[in-house]
Amino acid sequence: TCTLMWFRSDLRVQDNTALAAAARRSPVIAVFLRSIPHWQRHGHGANKLDFWHRGVATLGEALAGIGIPLLQRDIDDFDQAPATLLDIARQVDATALHFNHEYPLDEQRRDRAVADAFHQAGIMVTGHHDAVAFAPGELLTGKGDFYSVYTPFARAWHRQLTARRLALRDAPSPQASIRTESERPLAPPPLAANPADAGLWPAGEAAAADRLERFLRFRARHYVRQRDFPALAGTSELSPYLALGMISHRQCLQAALSENDGSLAEGDAGIVSWVNELVWREFYHHVAAGFPQVCRFRAFQPHTEALAWRDDETSFRAWSEGRTGYPIVDAAMRQLLRSGWMHNRLRMVAAMFLSKHLLIDWRRGEAFFLRHLVDGEFCANNGGWQWAASTGTDAAPYFRLFNPTTQSRRFDPDGRFIAEHVPELAVLPPRDRHAPSDDQRRACGYPLPIVDHRTARARALEAFKSLSPPA
Ligand code: FAD
Repeated sequence: TCTLMWFRSDLRVQDNTALAAAARRSPVIAVFLRSIPHWQRHGHGANKLDFWHRGVATLGEALAGIGIPLLQRDIDDFDQAPATLLDIARQVDATALHFNHEYPLDEQRRDRAVADAFHQAGIMVTGHHDAVAFAPGELLTGKGDFYSVYTPFARAWHRQLTARRLALRDAPSPQASIRTESERPLAPPPLAANPADAGLWPAGEAAAADRLERFLRFRARHYVRQRDFPALAGTSELSPYLALGMISHRQCLQAALSENDGSLAEGDAGIVSWVNELVWREFYHHVAAGFPQVCRFRAFQPHTEALAWRDDETSFRAWSEGRTGYPIVDAAMRQLLRSGWMHNRLRMVAAMFLSKHLLIDWRRGEAFFLRHLVDGEFCANNGGWQWAASTGTDAAPYFRLFNPTTQSRRFDPDGRFIAEHVPELAVLPPRDRHAPSDDQRRACGYPLPIVDHRTARARALEAFKSLSPPA
């Protein structure tokens, strides 16, 4: 007999709660199910699918190194997960199945169906909480509700955190190799577009650990000062690795603890601020689990559903191709198209530009980001978009509209980021890159702004004002 470990978005051997639990009842056989049609229907694009594929290949090698085979299967849809997993369980005579929970609605449904099928077959199933320090439902307001505001959530998170929650899980000991029949790796996924250069995002645990180390060594201490400046690369760029679990939040937080004399809440301002970003990540996981309407294409604030979003294909196209005539927005979108990643400050700027200046439904932007991001992850992406569009938890108040040109002058003061991603503007003096004159635009072959900031602002305020907020 053996124990099955079902990997999903937790592609690592180190510090993996479900794997550690499975390995206590050695021997372990690992499984990975892939459904390209399902992921494509859910909006994941080439960058994420390619990174996922490379991550599974790297995981397979790491597991092989400790004698654990990784069985990989393609399925059309996750409806087939119960039958496929049961089939494998019977073939290898498994007595138990372990996995780590995922919190969005569809994933929870999928896991319940698997658990039901296994229970009926008399095989034990255990889901583990691994992706976050507190399982959704463990941190609640005084009234027993899920938090819908970040600050009190973060306070509760810090207050209730114990060393045990952050203790790293045991890595499985090497086991005698098991022979299985079908250990063939999956073929590379068919992709609708060329993925970003794989060199930008090497997959796997070792690459993630290396990034964490470099972040702590070179960037963490400057994080507060540099994190908002896209030209400075002052953030960890760990998001793709956290999204697919090639590194865990515990590993990140343990590293932060040891850099900061054992504290996550006080001490080095850079580390403390970075830890709070990891808490934002956790907050949005809780939001997805606690307010499942957000997983059904719904705004967190129901009254914003009545907003008269504009149907404007030409503007959407200009935004998505980085041709809005606002250099910082275009630089941001071109960074996304080129690298599969966008700096956080610019995600906010670009998302507000679409949802407020263009008054185009944030759901279109959310889907576009997911299709292009290598770190595309439902909870953070939905949370970020609903924040920007003022429809979400703890969202920006609707009258808060970033002026893209002001943001540009403030966070890309010498126009370096613009010059890198909108090279046609690189010939201009740095101070002119934020809002070139009409003549400069003509000379550089760069478009005029597709909307005027003040007019667009007034239009957005009017549209939001006409909504009736809840009593
Ligand atoms: P760091 O600054 O080094 O932060 C460390 C980690 O904390 C990140 O890797 C990430 O896991 C987490 N984190 C940081 N900021 C946030 C945040 N605001 N919300 C949630 N988690 C955060 N992040 C994703 O991982 N996937 C997405 O699909 C995604 N979509 C977004 C869409 C919009 C409109 C916005 C405004 C934000 C989005 N974010 C998303 C959050 C954030 O922009 C990225 O996590 C961050 O830019 C990743 O860079 P980093 O790893 O260098 O971050």
